Amino acid sequence: MVKSENYDVLVVGAGMVGAAIACALGLKGIRVAVFDRALPLAFKPDQLPDLRVSALSYASEQILKNLGVWPYMQAMRMCPYRRMAVWEKLHFPPGSELDKRPNQTVFNAADIRHDQLGFVVENRITQLGLLKRLKEVESVSLFAPATIESMNLKAEKPEIMLQDGSVFKADLLIGADGAQSKVREQANIRLDTREYEQQCLVATVEIEGGLQDITWQAFTPTGPEAFLPLSDIDSKSYGSIVWYNLPENVQKLMKLSDSDFLEELSSTFPKELPPLVKLHERGSFPLARRHAMNYFTNGVVLAGDAAHTINPLAGQGVNLGFQDVAWLAEVLTDAFQTGESLGSQKVLSRYEKARRRDNQLMMSTMDAFYLAFSNNSAPLKVLRNVALSLAAKSKPAVKEVMKYAMGISGRQAELAKSS
Ligand SMILES: Cc1cc2nc3c(=O)[nH]c(=O)nc-3n(C[C@H](O)[C@H](O)[C@H](O)COP(=O)(O)OP(=O)(O)OC[C@H]3O[C@@H](n4cnc5c(N)ncnc54)[C@H](O)[C@@H]3O)c2cc1C
Repeated sequence: MVKSENYDVLVVGAGMVGAAIACALGLKGIRVAVFDRALPLAFKPDQLPDLRVSALSYASEQILKNLGVWPYMQAMRMCPYRRMAVWEKLHFPPGSELDKRPNQTVFNAADIRHDQLGFVVENRITQLGLLKRLKEVESVSLFAPATIESMNLKAEKPEIMLQDGSVFKADLLIGADGAQSKVREQANIRLDTREYEQQCLVATVEIEGGLQDITWQAFTPTGPEAFLPLSDIDSKSYGSIVWYNLPENVQKLMKLSDSDFLEELSSTFPKELPPLVKLHERGSFPLARRHAMNYFTNGVVLAGDAAHTINPLAGQGVNLGFQDVAWLAEVLTDAFQTGESLGSQKVLSRYEKARRRDNQLMMSTMDAFYLAFSNNSAPLKVLRNVALSLAAKSKPAVKEVMKYAMGISGRQAELAKSS
């Protein structure tokens, strides 16, 4: 006999965004079923750091704290960063006056009376923290690992059928199934896509010099060279390297032996790179900007990477996803409490109206950076370095940029407080 279950909301994807939305809705008494094809590996304190990490903003921290997830993440590990430096790499003789980098901006949390600008957290740790919290939320059922056999998004209420034959129905289905979203495809939601010329190589390295509290990014015409600090493990220190470059160069770097790769890294990256002890892992990622033309159709809505992917150069992808979570939870909870249908166009358009403009603005800002710096034109180089030098001198401008990146300006801040 086919088992059929009814919920208020179905969520496809229990990644960082899907698990957070399930948690936020469940805590308001909304009955949620959340599905994922895989579960993350359990955490062990002596495990070396994962390759996939995210710099979580202050606003994301507040959202995760309000959901009761943050203590679980802290009990595993995360690395605060107090300073962030950004500059364009110019080739002057070492030791020359010009080598002192007038075009460098350093953001310091102390300047806006914060302890840190954010935390670098392994994606798996954020997800594990969320899944642990989900277990405590009575109105949420997690089905993972589970294989979705089919989705019927044209029925009066959206339906999911699993491989074991069980059927789930609800007023609303949320697609939080990442960049290659099947929900988006099945709902016939089209994408505005732009493939970037650069790819991104990410590497986890063991470093000398102890725990770092700074993340930095040097722009070059082939793409930024960046460093993110990671937590110490068993008295050893680690960092995450992000090396943007043309695909052919990334492929060459991926093929080098570990020792040749470390040598290439040390000789290319800025002098701020701590001495490297060992390469732990490396991987490469194609970069594309994708934006769903609509965030919803009748009974179906998208959140996180399913709705938008962004150039990761300012580390904002999942931070935007957590903003989606806060808004979607607010809109759906209001509708639930006033008896509106959760899947109605009227309700879902409130969410899209709130999020599309912010997501678009962040995407366009990243594109402007990408285009301005991926260019060797001499006049443009002069212009952007004058702009960087002026920006570096303007304390109020630096503080405003910092607040925007941390999500503590405007409506983002209000939502982080209330979610
Ligand atoms: C190199 C790089 C660096 C980045 N750095 C940062 C950073 O510093 N800060 C930041 O904010 N963001 C960063 N990002 C972006 C961030 O990683 C993503 O925005 C984030 O992972 C998106 O989360 P998500 O939950 O929307 O999607 P995902 O993490 O992709 O999760 C989707 C989930 O859905 C599940 N799923 C997919 N299909 C199905 C299916 N058919 N059935 C069941 N389950 C399914 C998957 O198993 C997965 O668990 C970076 C991205 C890259 C590529």
